[in-house]
Amino acid sequence: MPGEKIEAHLTAMEVAAYVDNGLEAAARARVRSHVAECDECRGEVIAVARLARTGRRRWMALVPLAAAAALVLYIAPWQGPSDSTAPVLREPGVTTIVAPTPIAPHGAVTALPSLTWSRVPLADRYKVTLFDADGSVLWETQTADTTAVVPPSLRIVVGVPHYWKVAARTEPGRWVASDLTSFTLSRAPPQR
Ligand SMILES: [Zn+2]
Repeated sequence: MPGEKIEAHLTAMEVAAYVDNGLEAAARARVRSHVAECDECRGEVIAVARLARTGRRRWMALVPLAAAAALVLYIAPWQGPSDSTAPVLREPGVTTIVAPTPIAPHGAVTALPSLTWSRVPLADRYKVTLFDADGSVLWETQTADTTAVVPPSLRIVVGVPHYWKVAARTEPGRWVASDLTSFTLSRAPPQR
């Protein structure tokens, strides 16, 4: 693993190993120095550490870094502050129900009027959850529609990635969740 490049972001393996105290001294030093410089990776380490405390770090090595962050956010808010070590993810592939797909916002956006996602056949209800950069739930709502208007009072920090996902209810008590998608609100255009 290249040791001298500060510019290279940490891999999911590095982050997981670091949190798990599984790195040799040189590798730890690289992680430390990188994290000191890189907000993005520092966020990953914090998020993974939080995940590790709940006993779920084994998932981290299986997914790419960006997805790893998403996974942290995916699990944490839905499980609440429980310290349970029970497995929380369903077996992949047990369902043929298609999850909804977040459509907008995604990536850099200049406004956040609403959230839009794809329709899921048979779904009678959608639950949308918006998270801040730390994975805390900022806002959650349910609707039968495939779009949800964001309340103007919602505080979205400019320039900081936020995350959202949507779950579709396909039968009573059964929700199929999308992956997390991220967006960053850029500086708002000047008002007329
Ligand atoms: Zn980085």
